[in-house]
This record gives sequence, structure tokens and C-alpha cells, in this order.
Amino acid sequence: MISTRRHRVLIIGAPYDNFKSMDDLLSRTRAAVWHPCTQMKDLEATPPLAIARGEGPWLIDTAGRRYVDAISSWWVNLFGHCNPRINAAITDQLGRIEHVMLAGATHEPVVALSERLSALTALGHAFYASDGASATEIALKMSAHYWRNTGRPEKNAFVSLQNGYHGETVGALSVTDIPLFRATYEPLLRHSARVPSPDARLAASGESPAAFAERCAAALEAHLAAHAETTAALIVEPLVQGAAGMAMYDPIYLTRARELCDRYEVHLIADEIAVGFGRSGTMFAFEQAPLPGGPAPKPVRPDFICLSKGITGGYLPLSSVLTTDSVYAAFYGDETARGFLHSHSYTGNPLACRAALAVLDLFEQDDVIAANRAKAATFTTILAPVRAHRRVRHFRRCGMIWAFDVAGATPGFAARFHRAALAQGVFVRPIGNVVYVMPPYVTGDDEMRQVCDALLACLDAPEV
Ligand SMILES: *Cc1c(COP(=O)(O)O)cnc(C)c1O
Repeated sequence: MISTRRHRVLIIGAPYDNFKSMDDLLSRTRAAVWHPCTQMKDLEATPPLAIARGEGPWLIDTAGRRYVDAISSWWVNLFGHCNPRINAAITDQLGRIEHVMLAGATHEPVVALSERLSALTALGHAFYASDGASATEIALKMSAHYWRNTGRPEKNAFVSLQNGYHGETVGALSVTDIPLFRATYEPLLRHSARVPSPDARLAASGESPAAFAERCAAALEAHLAAHAETTAALIVEPLVQGAAGMAMYDPIYLTRARELCDRYEVHLIADEIAVGFGRSGTMFAFEQAPLPGGPAPKPVRPDFICLSKGITGGYLPLSSVLTTDSVYAAFYGDETARGFLHSHSYTGNPLACRAALAVLDLFEQDDVIAANRAKAATFTTILAPVRAHRRVRHFRRCGMIWAFDVAGATPGFAARFHRAALAQGVFVRPIGNVVYVMPPYVTGDDEMRQVCDALLACLDAPEV
């Protein structure tokens, strides 16, 4: 029996007594569920983990085995599984109102969250959706619609970075540059331009990451000089290109991108879906862009910021797009079609907003950004043997993300490494030959030591 005693109470909709064994669950998941980002046939060799419970940084399977969730359940979890303080916030909200549509109605959680996100980002009027890709779609549509409302409808093209990732719905995929996700759907996508990625691994030998970022900014300038008349926005993942394999770059690129977007009248969209909420070491990665010189430096901020993933601590689907007052003002007026008529059924869901408010409270009450700085230094020391391993190249860190490339990785490396790490009680999913660790912020030193030992064992395993 998979069920635990506390699930024996008769709760309607509770599935727990229907599953006879872990094998029963695994065969039924293959028969009934279409898993994301998965060739389903691969589940024959690599069955998914059958998870019964979570506890802080731990995932616990139906046989009671424990795994460190070293990639925060696809980068969403910040404060661990079943966090009592987030649980309490959602439970409180459940007794009030679970959901109400946000057109023609409003509620305290969505207003409070919008005010706090605005204070944190220096942008205003938070628009909501349920996932990251939708946030990308919203930012792209808002940008193009802004130019239309201001009499420049020809400005409707987008430019993004090589190897960038902004989600996989058709609009988001058109600014995503990961061939594995994109190539098949190419005929469905609108053409959009790519400029070189400042990924520090691509620097010439002897060239500093900052010098390389400047060189990439020059390529961006060349593109904008030729195409600004038809370009609505540049979209970037600030500091870390996650799906590209945790490619990290120098923050000067963001400063230059801001300057160029100002000069060429192009919006700058910061996709902070993965790096927001402390992941990069600051609340938002954009905060690390150095101020441009001159007598009165303007704060470096994007025109749009896309947030999701960690926003609810990994509890509930929620995303948000915030923008400047001047963009907002261009939509305001008597004419309906000047307004932004986009919507999703679950826009501004109160339960998700309460989870997000609890997350922001945790950041404040526990001074999480400062605490993570100390934690990251300790984790980097713990991971020193990995950094020194003979197969490890380009060991890198940004905030609470560690990554390295593995030399000599052959096809199928990622799946083999994943399986070998599971045997060591660690859940990781390499991207190609890149192994990364992106732990929940509640991860302790002992758990990180277990991750380190597992990575070393996998790097040395003959079958990996
Ligand atoms: C995950 C991610 C997205 C897409 O978010 P979904 O919720 O998976 O649709 C977009 N941009 C970045 C940078 C991401 O990491």
C-alpha cells in the first residue's frame, strides 16, 4: 500500500487507497499521464520517481526513500516542500475565497501582492497569468501593442539572445533558441532575430567575461542600428541563461543593453522567471547591472519584468508581468481596443497570491538575501572537490546556482548521470553535458555534502 496512515481518513478525491504498489503507480502513470519534456518510451528505462511526500529539501518516494531535491523541482521551490508558513497562508486563504475572476472583481491578496512587487521592482501595474510562457506572451504582446497605440505599428519584431529560453508556447518559442524544443515547430513560428549570447564560456582565450560581454553588446548595437525601426523589444534572461545549460554572463551586458534600448527606442524585457526571487544572489538579477557612468546615472531597470517559478515558492502556478508607468499610460483611454484585452481564467488566483505574499514575508522576516550570501559561500566550499575533479570544466556560480560542464560526456550522459545520482539519494537532471545544482534555500550543509559526494561518485562511475 502506498497510502500513509494519515491519508486513511475518507477524504473525497483522495487517490491514496487506489494504488496497490509503486509498480502499479508507475505502470498507470505511463498509461494515463503524458509527462512533460519526455520521450515517453524513455520511461521504460528510467521510470519517474514515485513521490509520496516532501519535507524541506527532501523528496520522499512511496517506498520511503529520500532524495535531496537539488534542482528545486525545476527551479521553482525556494523554501522547501510542505513549508509550514506557506501552508498556513494557503490554508487561511482556502477558508475565505479560493478563486474569483479578476475581470469585474478584485481581492485583497492580488492588490497587496501587486503593491509589493511594484515596490520591489520599481515597475507598476502587475498583470497576472499562471505560468512563465504566458508571462513571455504577455510582455511581447504588451510591447507591440504599446508601439501600435503610440502610432508606430511597424515596430512589432523581437530580438533575443542565442541559446535563450523564454517558454514553449508558440509565441514564446519564437523568441526561444534551443533547437531541441524549437526545430520541430519552426513552421509554426514567427521569424524573430537572434544576437550573440554573452555566455562567458564563449569568450576568446584570454578575453575577460566583461570584455566578451562588451563585444556581444557591440553586435546588439549593430542589429539595432539596422532594425530599430521595426523592432518592438529585446528579451533577455538576465545573468543566467538557464535552459542553455546555466550559461552565465557579465552584468555589464545588461547595462549596455539598457543604454542601447534607450538610444534605439526599443523595449527591454527582463525574463526573470528563473533568476528572480533571490536565485541570482539579489532579489532580481537586473539589480546587479552596474549603473552607467555620467553625472546623473539612471537606475538600470527593464521596461518589462516577467516573474514566475519561485514567486509562489514552488507551490502554485502564478506568473506576473510588470511594466513602466509610461507603457501603462499608453493603454489608458476611452477606446476599448486601446486596452490590454488579454486574459487567462485563473488570472490573479487568490490562493497563488497568498502563497506569493507568504514568500515575500519569508524574504523579509528571515533576511533571506543576506542569509543566502553566507550559505552560498559555504556551499561553494563544500563543492570544492567537484570543482577540482578532472572531468569538470567551467565550474561557475551565480547566487544560489552552481554549474559545470563535464568533459568526455557521450550521448545519453544526462539520463545516466540522473539515474546514478538517484541511487545516491540526489535528484538532479543535467542539461546535455552540463550538471547544475540549484537547491531550495532551506538546504543545509549536510544535505549539500550529500549532493557533493553524489556528484563525485557519478563523475567517477564507469557507467556514466
Ligand atoms: C521556465 C522558464 C520559462 C517558462 O516558464 P513555464 O512556467 O515553464 O512556462 C520562461 N523563461 C525562463 C527564463 C524560464 O526559466
